[in-house]
Amino acid sequence: MQTDPDFKIEQFAIAARGELSPEIIGRRWRSVQAILGLATMTGSQMQLGPALNLICDVAAAIATFDSACVYFWNEPQEKMELRLQRGRMEHTPQVPWGGNLLHFWVTQQATPLLIYPGKHEKADLELKAAGAESALVVPLFVKGRVLGSLQLFCIKCEGFTEEDAHLLWTLALVSENLLTREQANEGLLRFAFTDYLTGLRTRGYFEQQLDLEVKRSDRKGEQFSLLMVDIDHFKSLNDNYGHHVGDQVLRQVTALLVKDMREVDTVARYGGEEFVIILPEASEQEAMTVAQRLRRAVQNFNFEIEGLQGHERLTISIGIAVYRHDADCRQKLIEYADAALYAAKSRGRNQVLPYSQLLVEQRKEVS
Ligand code: GH3
Ligand code: MG
Ligand code: MG
Repeated sequence: MQTDPDFKIEQFAIAARGELSPEIIGRRWRSVQAILGLATMTGSQMQLGPALNLICDVAAAIATFDSACVYFWNEPQEKMELRLQRGRMEHTPQVPWGGNLLHFWVTQQATPLLIYPGKHEKADLELKAAGAESALVVPLFVKGRVLGSLQLFCIKCEGFTEEDAHLLWTLALVSENLLTREQANEGLLRFAFTDYLTGLRTRGYFEQQLDLEVKRSDRKGEQFSLLMVDIDHFKSLNDNYGHHVGDQVLRQVTALLVKDMREVDTVARYGGEEFVIILPEASEQEAMTVAQRLRRAVQNFNFEIEGLQGHERLTISIGIAVYRHDADCRQKLIEYADAALYAAKSRGRNQVLPYSQLLVEQRKEVS
């Protein structure tokens, strides 16, 4: 064996530069322990929100940051969402695919990004919004796909090192199991929130959404409207043509109800042939306009009946109640919309009645 006289064993050595001080070793050790701690959590039951919070806690044990946020795919609602925010930061505009620009970049790269000022004007805007001089953006994976991003911001320039990036990337890879399972659980929620017959939101979803809307309304002082819709004489349609035809017609009515609704509106099947619609920020007048449009759409529609030459006509009745205007709690709101619907039925069906009108008429009758 010939030996190269210039050979030095150091040529094979990595990081043999004496920078592994006890302090660095201690920091790495703590980071690795934090990541391993998270790996053991993958057996426990947790929802996606707390799981993302935990990942952010572990990130804080690895890198020093002043503010942070997480964008993550919301499976039940099928959209990218800001799921977590720590520290003060303004919201930058969403890109068309959802999330901010940093999120979009990291989904394209699928590797961490170290962001410094002066390299790209749009990146500078993202830093400015977070009041930061540097950022570290890490992709979060579910089954090998980037479905989220952890974004850390530091007010110091070069606040993050490449080692931070590598450790956080390791954290993201270790978190994949946890996120995959919790995201699947969220997907199950979507099942629970979808009515099997019509594809509409279920009553459970509606109840949850109504709670949110009441809270939002209380906070912002804005009103919103609730429509309760019931198909007229639906029983006789079932009796005449059979249940499976009734089912087909329910789906056709559903299509008319969801057509032209805004993204923010909630249309749900409340039960049998009854539907509820939440119209955020809509006044009674606006709700009346929507309700009359729906009533006319159903009245004018030729419902196709299987095995029958020709068509069938149907009508709907609608009761309206407005939060804050008519009712000051969710229970009364439902009660009043229902009372207005019941009154619309007894007045001959195929009509819309707001609760306020019913109330005025009832008072007149009493006096
Ligand atoms: P009204 O104008 O007073 O509302 O009369 P109606 O016949 O619509 O009222 P009722 O509540 O007496 O009947 C509702 C009917 O809706 C009874 C039931 O057979 C039918 N129904 C409820 N759910 C379904 C369903 O999922 N499929 C079908 N085909 N029919 C359903
Ligand atoms: Mg009915
Ligand atoms: Mg009914």
